[in-house]
This record gives sequence, C-alpha cells and structure tokens, in this order.
Amino acid sequence: MNVYDAIEMATAVAKDVYNYKSKHGAVIISESGELISIGHNMKKHNRRNYLYGYSTPYDHAEANAIFKALSNPKLIKKLKGSTLIVVRIGKTKLKNSYPCKHCIELATTVGISKIMYSNVRGNIGSLSL
Ligand SMILES: [Zn+2]
Repeated sequence: MNVYDAIEMATAVAKDVYNYKSKHGAVIISESGELISIGHNMKKHNRRNYLYGYSTPYDHAEANAIFKALSNPKLIKKLKGSTLIVVRIGKTKLKNSYPCKHCIELATTVGISKIMYSNVRGNIGSLSL
C-alpha cells in the first residue's frame, strides 16, 4: 500500500466515525508499505486504554491506531520506520488534523518516523520524527 492508498483509506475510515462532530481517520503503513493498523477518533467515555499508561490522547485517531498495533506483538516491531497518516474530513474537503503533542510523542516512542496529516488548506502535510 502506498501513501496515496493510505490517505484514501484513512479518509474512508473517518467517514465511518459516527455520532461525533470531528471525524478523523488514521492508517499506519510499514516502511515496506504493509498495512499495520487503522484507527479513528472516538468519544472520551469510550476510552479503554488506561492500561497502556496513556490517557490524554486516547480518543485521537493516531493513538487509537498506535494502541491497536501495540496490542499485537507481531506488529510492534514493524512500527519502526513506519508512516502514520491521519486525516480529518469536512463536508467538502479535508480539514486540519495536525497531530497534538501527545500523539507526536507517542508516535516517536514507538518508532514511527513520519506523520502525514491533512492541513488547514485541505492538503497533506508531512512531519518527520
Ligand atoms: Zn493527538
């Protein structure tokens, strides 16, 4: 899966976020382009990941995708050098989904080397970690 496919998939995932005003989708692909994980934002009351020691960013799509990968031992090592794509959808175009400092820290900790995100112009920006 290339980055463009991943952006498309993250957008599709964001469209499935229901009952929540902000709709974010995230996809993580390995260095070799393998799909590692998919995540979306969710309401705070649905948080279940306190056991991982992170509470603040759990409702964010990025953290959701990362925690899913961390729950599978086979995927953990593939996170190193991977790329995380996160988008927020609006009615007609992508909206700003620049990652928060908690998600950036979390992504850095697990070895993700790049975050691509939808920016204020509805384009895709890139952040090297
Ligand atoms: Zn975040």
